[in-house]
Amino acid sequence: MISVRGVTHGYGDDVVLADVSLTVPDGEFLVLAGANGSGKTTLVRHFNGLLAPDEGEVLVDGTPVADDPVAARTAVGMVFQEPRDAFVAATVGADVAFGPENLGLARPEIDDRVGDALAGVGLAGRRDERIDRLSGGERERVAIAGALAMRPGHLVLDEPFTGLDEPARRSVLARLDELHAGGTGVIVVTHDLRDVFDRADRLIALSDGRIAVDGAPAAVREELTDLPIRVPGPR
Ligand code: ADP
Repeated sequence: MISVRGVTHGYGDDVVLADVSLTVPDGEFLVLAGANGSGKTTLVRHFNGLLAPDEGEVLVDGTPVADDPVAARTAVGMVFQEPRDAFVAATVGADVAFGPENLGLARPEIDDRVGDALAGVGLAGRRDERIDRLSGGERERVAIAGALAMRPGHLVLDEPFTGLDEPARRSVLARLDELHAGGTGVIVVTHDLRDVFDRADRLIALSDGRIAVDGAPAAVREELTDLPIRVPGPR
């Protein structure tokens, strides 16, 4: 469980998150929506200690992130926006192994995790391939595998569909569905709700660094029309 309590964050004099509180239960599929600049990325970077609040606190599974940042980073995996240029190793397997290696795990355990994570994104058997030969969609899946190899309780994906073509988007969505069905919490940051509106258990919309909307997608559909968020039509 991720608990955000009264978090305020600014860059210089610019207050980007203003007294934000929310709880993300285990296993929840949460969509975090909002216009560009509304504070989405800044908020999720607090979930695993990449950013520290100016005021308030964040707890993961009951422990303040500030007290145990390694535990928070293990419990909350992050796949960043445009991960396709941010790989640490030349091959698929070496890149996915990077996180578990940093946890100091034994080699057989690392190999198991890398194998499971690659299978989980449909890239089993591609361990030795060079990342620079992969398509954008495959690179995105390698980035997801890298986060999965940490066996996180929650997986955060920041704008995961940007620049992906239709088949790649469908493939990433299918992986997210499988993960969610298997009990992993999925948190998708996006300004475009097309693919995720019907999948999410809950939708939170930020506006100017505050929570403007919070509820089940179908229940909050009307409230979203006042915000600069693209909402899919009813089916
Ligand atoms: P979103 O993810 O919703 O687009 P962000 O959290 O990325 O929003 O950004 C919120 C605001 O904070 C924006 O106005 C952005 O320009 C500003 N901002 C983000 N990161 C930094 C930074 N490292 N330094 C200064 N300002 C930043």
